Amino acid sequence: MAGLKIRKGDRVKVLTGKDRGKEGTVMRAFPAQRKVIVDGVNVAKKHQAPTRSTQQGGIIDKDMPLPVANVALVCPSCGKATRVGYKVDGSGQKVRTCKKCGGEIS
Ligand SMILES: [Zn+2]
Repeated sequence: MAGLKIRKGDRVKVLTGKDRGKEGTVMRAFPAQRKVIVDGVNVAKKHQAPTRSTQQGGIIDKDMPLPVANVALVCPSCGKATRVGYKVDGSGQKVRTCKKCGGEIS
């Protein structure tokens, strides 16, 4: 399984591209493509045709996927953008850890 170190619900910081420096929450992760959608990042204006559910159509803002390599996890413990490590806890579960402060990332 091609897992990503970054998951839905994580807070991340954008490292490169037009949204460099922005922070946001991962809304969706696409492990097969190694891409993530981050709230408010990599927004594209999309022309939307009216559908039965949206009624009106028009131009909408859409968050586009970006490569997971372009973002870094923001550690909930130390608040820094960090690389993610792993360790195995007492019950044999693999948990993510912050490379900066060593804290566990749930
Ligand atoms: Zn940390």
